[in-house]
Amino acid sequence: MIDLVFLGPPGAGKGTYAKKLREILGIPHISTGDIFREAVANGTELGKKVKPIMESGELVPDEIVNKVVRDRLSKPDCEKGFILDGYPRTVAQAKALDEMLKDMGRELMWAILFDVPEDVIVQRITNRRVCPKCGRIYNLITNPPKEDNLCDVCKVPLIQREDDKEEVVRRRYRVYMEYTFPVVGYYDSKGKLQKVDGTIGLDKVIEEVLKLVDKDKVS
Ligand code: AMP
Repeated sequence: MIDLVFLGPPGAGKGTYAKKLREILGIPHISTGDIFREAVANGTELGKKVKPIMESGELVPDEIVNKVVRDRLSKPDCEKGFILDGYPRTVAQAKALDEMLKDMGRELMWAILFDVPEDVIVQRITNRRVCPKCGRIYNLITNPPKEDNLCDVCKVPLIQREDDKEEVVRRRYRVYMEYTFPVVGYYDSKGKLQKVDGTIGLDKVIEEVLKLVDKDKVS
C-alpha cells in the first residue's frame, strides 16, 4: 500500500504534487483544507464551525480534523493507498493517524517533507490563483493561465483564496513553524521521514517522489 503524508509549509506545492501523483499512482489525494473549503461552500454544520478559524489562518481543533480523516480513510478508494496533504498538522494529529492506520492494519510508507525557503513561499502564495470550478492551481508568475486570469480548461475567472492574502500567509507560516514543524521531527524519530527539495521544479519533484515509492515493494 502506498500510504503517504505530504509535509511542508503552506505554498510548498503539496497540493500540486499530490494532484499529479494521484493520476500516476491511482490513489486519492486527500486534502483536509479542500474538505473544509467544500464544507464551507456547502454551508454544512462542519463548514459553519471551521469558516472563521480558516479565515484567520489558525488551526481547526484536532478532534474535528481527526474525525474527518478517519471517515475519509475508511472509503474504498483508499484501499491501495492515499496521499494526505495538510494533515497531520500537529504532533497530536500524527499520533491519531498512527492509531487510525494501526486500527486498519496498515502502516505509513513515508512522510515526505517538501523543503522550500520562506521568501519563496511568500512569493508563491500571494501569486497563487485557483479555479473555483475545477480546483486547478495557477501561479501568476511561474505558472500563469494562458488567458489573463481565466482557467485554461473551464474559462471561468480565477480567484485568490481568502487565506492566501499576505497578512494571513504570514500568520499561517508562523502557525506552521510552531505546530507543524515538530511533526517533521516526529516522523524523523520514527525513521519515516524523507526530504525532497521543493524548488527543483514540478517534473523533478515528481521523479523524486516516484523513486521513493518504487524503492519499496508496493503491494
Ligand atoms: P490548507 O489548504 O491545507 O492550507 O488548509 C487551509 C486551512 O484549513 C488551514 O489554514 C486550517 O485553518 C485548516 N486546516 C486544514 N487542515 C488542517 C489540519 N490538519 N489541522 C487543522 N486545521 C487544518
